[in-house]
Amino acid sequence: MALPPVLLLHDEAHGGALIDALARHGDGLPAHVLPLAVNEVTQIGLECIAAAFAYGAAAVRILLHAKPRHDPAGLYHTIALAEANLAGLGLDGTRIATIETDDPFALGDALHAITLGAPVPRPASFEPLGGRREVLRFALHELRRAASAETEVIDLPAGAPFGAVEIGDGCTLCLSCVSACPTGALSDDPDRPVLRFSEDACVQCGLCKTTCPEKVITLLPRLAFGAAAATRVLREEEPFHCIHCGKPFGVKSTIDSVLSKLEGTHWMYRSAPPRLDLIKMCGDCRVIAVTEEAFDPHDAPQRPKLRTTDDYLREREIKGES
Ligand code: SF4
Ligand code: SF4
Repeated sequence: MALPPVLLLHDEAHGGALIDALARHGDGLPAHVLPLAVNEVTQIGLECIAAAFAYGAAAVRILLHAKPRHDPAGLYHTIALAEANLAGLGLDGTRIATIETDDPFALGDALHAITLGAPVPRPASFEPLGGRREVLRFALHELRRAASAETEVIDLPAGAPFGAVEIGDGCTLCLSCVSACPTGALSDDPDRPVLRFSEDACVQCGLCKTTCPEKVITLLPRLAFGAAAATRVLREEEPFHCIHCGKPFGVKSTIDSVLSKLEGTHWMYRSAPPRLDLIKMCGDCRVIAVTEEAFDPHDAPQRPKLRTTDDYLREREIKGES
């Protein structure tokens, strides 16, 4: 019975030479191993690995120098991500690994030693067109379809390029995270206070988390399919309506919080007519109200005199302290 295919990714200079040497001086590659030369093996991405398994590979091996010339840390991370994805879709076992050798016979032994799991039951045949991320998403969806998996969400290790964000209590809908998001995964609505999230667009860069003034954002590295990946509302609140023109502006809970903090505490908001009402007005009405009132913001009560280091030193001299 024919063995399921194994894809061997290698570079031309090192891998090509090893494969030639194995053919010339040994038994050559096993018949089910398909060699594919790439430009730089440490740059192989998740999209390439996912597509190989979606097309029906039972395993993928990546051939490296015994002492790789380029740092393989990124490749190891990609392999860990790929393993998590494959396991989540029911393709368990060591499906993907590196073979790090400069010896053609060691390469042959490593390929013969692969324990082959079953490939996907319904291999895909898609054209990997588009940008790298589009191809990756497409390949992962095709892989799930080919594996006949029902999985909706696969948890991924930290640093994965897919995932969700979770908003905890305390979000004020300031929308700083929307401005910070480079991919448009977070978005708002010009007509009402709402925070939306498109999981497909999130690259887990963490800029929203760093920007959030309330520190309520948590990143959830994961791969979601179907309804779990749909665009959703993360937070929504009632808008505050301008008491003058009725136009919605700001978030009701935020305006209420500002009002409770200023009421009776700040000189600017103590006088009549109730100046606190300015906080309840939209930007346009607030400007009109302040202009008509001829309010002088410099007419503040006398502040306590500022004490400087000189004042303290002079006091000491007067008291005769050293
Ligand atoms: S999650 Fe943070 S940054 Fe985003 S709207 Fe809420 S408070 Fe603002
Ligand atoms: S992690 Fe990055 S891409 Fe995802 S929502 Fe936050 S800012 Fe946007």
